Amino acid sequence: MTNVLIVGSGPTGLTLAIELARRGVDLRIVERSPEHPGGVRGKGLQPRTQEVFDDLGVIDEIVATGSAYPPIRSYQDGQVVWEGRMDEVKPVTDGEPYPNLVMQPQWRTEQILRDRLAELGHQVELGAEVTDFEQDADGVTVTLSTGETVRCAYLVGADGGRSTVRKRLGVGFVGETFDSERMLLADVKVRGLDRDHWHIWGDMVAKELRVSLCPLPGTDVFQLVTTLDSLDDVTDVEVDEIVWRSEYRVNIRMADRFRVGRVFLAGDAAHVHSPAGGQGLNTGVQDAYNLGWKLASGNERLIDTYEYERMGIAEHVLGLSTRLLRDRDLNRGDETKQLGLAYYGSPLSVGERGGERLGTLFAEQRGTHFLLLADTSQEYGEQIKVVPPLPGQEGVMLVRPDGYIGYHGDEAGLSAYLSGFGIAAPLASASR
Ligand SMILES: Cc1cc2nc3c(=O)[nH]c(=O)nc-3n(C[C@H](O)[C@H](O)[C@H](O)COP(=O)(O)OP(=O)(O)OC[C@H]3O[C@@H](n4cnc5c(N)ncnc54)[C@H](O)[C@@H]3O)c2cc1C
Repeated sequence: MTNVLIVGSGPTGLTLAIELARRGVDLRIVERSPEHPGGVRGKGLQPRTQEVFDDLGVIDEIVATGSAYPPIRSYQDGQVVWEGRMDEVKPVTDGEPYPNLVMQPQWRTEQILRDRLAELGHQVELGAEVTDFEQDADGVTVTLSTGETVRCAYLVGADGGRSTVRKRLGVGFVGETFDSERMLLADVKVRGLDRDHWHIWGDMVAKELRVSLCPLPGTDVFQLVTTLDSLDDVTDVEVDEIVWRSEYRVNIRMADRFRVGRVFLAGDAAHVHSPAGGQGLNTGVQDAYNLGWKLASGNERLIDTYEYERMGIAEHVLGLSTRLLRDRDLNRGDETKQLGLAYYGSPLSVGERGGERLGTLFAEQRGTHFLLLADTSQEYGEQIKVVPPLPGQEGVMLVRPDGYIGYHGDEAGLSAYLSGFGIAAPLASASR
């Protein structure tokens, strides 16, 4: 029996596959499309996603092939009327090793994730659509379009906004479709524009942005985003080739459950956003990063916290991207970076700082282990790496494999926390 079957090979499914593969979990990842998808689509990788990608071993490639966001140049009636940046460029600090957005076409982010997955011994199975499934107490029986039937312990629907898995579960997808926000999205080759600016046509003061052409690093392509009737605003630019195109309406929706028995929803299958603020891809990556280590543990009490933790975040992020869409403001502060997101109130968060992102000791955290910040003589086994406490730290802090503080308190209480969640308990007291 396959342990986990992942449906969909977008950023969410690939991140989950890497998380499971590096923990030796038996997995399969199936993709309906006969070839790997193209399209620039989600191009902004937020600081928190970069921290996750550091842990997954892909950040060097992401940074080497991506770029910072270029400054914006805006035009009205054929004239440049404004130049500036969407956000302030921040310096690297200990607490923020990746303080700025990285621009990367989604097809390349996916390619880099697939290469990492291949290093870990797994390939996406193309042309394999999940058409149906049934679950019982011991597992899920899944039907593929290839005619194969797969039996797995857990099924994860990372199959995008139109998720078959969500529909087959009968889970509601509550929210709005903004019919007025009907957009054309295309990757185009053009003549007459420099590649050092993000070019925008419209009235920046009135916040009526009609056409956007953004150059993508390491390509000769611009991403075009426009309302269907606005292209006439653009003069002196010739489109040579349309490499990829899609029309879409903004949808803002969230599934009313992220888990039904042995089946989970993650990424766009669980929540769809407006593109404003670049949150969609990033939130999906973090769903997967939250679910991966829990599924790999096989411990029901840990696994069951996924839905609670990620529904809270999805609700928050949907609110944020909807506000940014309505405000039509291109300025971005820290709120879109996803560094301040926390799991306060989760059953897994205990003590004063329980639920917070640790935000330091990134090198020590890299890998699949927990990190215990403690001055201790106990031995905790391979799963828990012990490091000295932070200056001024009270009590001990246990950091989860996904970088959030799980337990903060005295060491005596830690044993109960660990055994409660089936995490390795202390082995024995080492002699000093
Ligand atoms: C204009 C635009 C700009 C955007 N900008 C940003 C941005 O700057 N930053 C950001 O974070 N996000 C952005 N996004 C959103 C981002 O593209 C999505 O949030 C992201 O693709 C979601 O990833 P996913 O893996 O959850 O789903 P998807 O990428 O949709 O992947 C789902 C996969 O599942 C496959 N599949 C579907 N059904 C089945 C089935 N039954 N069996 C097998 N396979 C199946 C599909 O073929 C697909 O490959 C943008 C989106 C748009 C449209």
